[in-house]
Amino acid sequence: MVDWHVIEFGIPKLSSLTDEQLEGLYVERDGRWSSAIKAAMRRFGTEKLDLDENWASRSPDWDCPGCGRRKPDLLRLSSAGVLLARLDIHHDHLTDHFKSILHAKLGPQWRAVIPPDTAHLEKLGSRLVARFEPSTVCLDCNGADGAVKAKLQEIPRSFSFRPSEIRRFVTARPNAEHQIDVEVARAIFAEARLDFDRRLGLVETLAVMTLVGEMTLEPGNQPSMLAGNPMGMYRHLHNWFLRECPEQHTMVSKDVEAFEARSVSRDGVATAERKKPRAVSRPTEAEIAVYDGGGAFDLWQAAPSDWRCPACGRDRRDILRRSNNRKRLWAGKLVRHTEYIITDSVPDDEDAEFAVNAFIDRHELHLICLDCSTIMAGVKSRWPDISASDALFQFSDMRAIATATPNQAHKVDWVAAEEHARASLPLAELTKTYWKHHNEAVGCRAVYRSLLTKCGGNKQRAWIRLSSYYAAEFAGLEEPEGWLDFLLSEADRIGIDDPFRLPASVA
Ligand SMILES: [Zn+2]
Ligand SMILES: [Zn+2]
Repeated sequence: MVDWHVIEFGIPKLSSLTDEQLEGLYVERDGRWSSAIKAAMRRFGTEKLDLDENWASRSPDWDCPGCGRRKPDLLRLSSAGVLLARLDIHHDHLTDHFKSILHAKLGPQWRAVIPPDTAHLEKLGSRLVARFEPSTVCLDCNGADGAVKAKLQEIPRSFSFRPSEIRRFVTARPNAEHQIDVEVARAIFAEARLDFDRRLGLVETLAVMTLVGEMTLEPGNQPSMLAGNPMGMYRHLHNWFLRECPEQHTMVSKDVEAFEARSVSRDGVATAERKKPRAVSRPTEAEIAVYDGGGAFDLWQAAPSDWRCPACGRDRRDILRRSNNRKRLWAGKLVRHTEYIITDSVPDDEDAEFAVNAFIDRHELHLICLDCSTIMAGVKSRWPDISASDALFQFSDMRAIATATPNQAHKVDWVAAEEHARASLPLAELTKTYWKHHNEAVGCRAVYRSLLTKCGGNKQRAWIRLSSYYAAEFAGLEEPEGWLDFLLSEADRIGIDDPFRLPASVA
C-alpha cells in the first residue's frame, strides 16, 4: 500500500488582478502597472514608455552600482519623448578577447576545430581574466563607458570600465544623462593599464595553449549545471506535476507569460522604426567570415555554409543589417524554428472511418533569420489578446505576410499577420496533442534504453521489464506489447535530435 501526499493549493490568476493588486502581490517586481511608473509618466507629461524586462525584474528600490542612483532618478525622456525605464547589462569586453583570438586564427568554426578537450580553456580563461563580473547598470552608466572609449583612442576595444570606475568619472544628476570627466577616465585607464596588459598577456598565453592542444581537460559525467540533473528530485517533482496537471501547468505558464508582457512596454521601439531609412549597406565576405553570430554564435556555426532562411530565402549575407552600435557593425542572427508537417488524412485507408481532417505528422527543426522569427513578437505586442495565446507561424505564413529585402528589415503586412496569427490557433491546439504523444514516445524510449543498459544489452529481458514498468498504465489495454512497440517506433520516427546542437562543452 502506498501513502500519497494529496496537495491542493491556489495560485492567483494574475490576469484577473488590477494594477494595484499586482503591486501589492509583487512588491519585488516593477512594470508598466506600478504606481511609480504611472506617476512618472504624468510628471514627464508623456504617454509613451520604453520599459524593458531588466527594469521589470529589478526591485523598485534597486540602485545602480555605477552612479548609485535609485530607480526614480534614472527615469528620463528620450529625444523622441519616450520615457526610458531601461537597464543594461554591462560586461567586461576583455572576456570576449579569447574568443576573438581563436576566431581570428581559426575562423568562425573555431569551436569545432580547436584540439579536443580544450574548450574549457576559453570558457574559464575568459572569466579568469575579467576585471569585473557582468553587472546590471543604468543606461547612462553603460553609455558613459562607450562615450569615453569613443573619445580616448588610446583605450583598446577590449577594455571596459568597472562600475566602480564609471562612478569616479561621471557626475550623476537625477533624471538626466551623466556629465563625463574624460580626464579622470583617462587617468583611471592609465592606472589600470599595467594590470590590464598582464591580463591580455595571460589570455594570449592561454590561447596559444588552446591552439597547440595543451592543458586538456577530460570531460566528466556530471549533469549539466544549466540543464539540471534529469534524475534529480526537483525534476522528479516537476515532472510529476506536469503529468498530473498538464492543463493547469499550461494555464499557469500562460498567465505568468502574460504578466511579463503586461509589465514591459516597447513604445521606444516603435519610435525607432519610424526613423527615416538609411542607405542600405552590405557586409563583405571577410566580414561574414568573422561575424560572431550576433549573440547566437553556436547556431551561426551550426548552419551549413549554403544556409538560406527557409522562410524568406535570404542567405547569411542578406540577413545582416548595419547596426546602430558603433562597436558592432552588423546585427542579425539565426534562430531555431519548429515547423510542423501536417497530413490531411490518415494514410492507412483501412482505418478510414477514424480519419481526421488534419493532424500533425511530425516536426522538423530549422534555422530561420531573426527578421522572420520576430514577426510573431510584433503581432503579440500589437494585439494583447494574441499575446496570451499559443499562436504560431509556419513558413507559409511568414512568406505570406512579410516582404524580404537583403540587408533590410522585413516589410510586414500587420493586418495579414494578425489574420494568420488568429488562423493558427486551431493548429496550436493540435500541437498540444502532438507534443503529448511525442513526449510519451520519447519517454518510453528513454526508459527502454536505461533498462537495456541495466540488463547488459539483453533485449528480451529489457522488454519484459519495460512491460512490467508500464503494466499499471496499460492494465486496460488488450495488446499492451503492441502499444509499446508502437511508442518505440514513434520515438524513432518523431523523437528527432536537435541537429543544431554542437557537441556538449563544459558549462
Ligand atoms: Zn548608473
Ligand atoms: Zn527569414
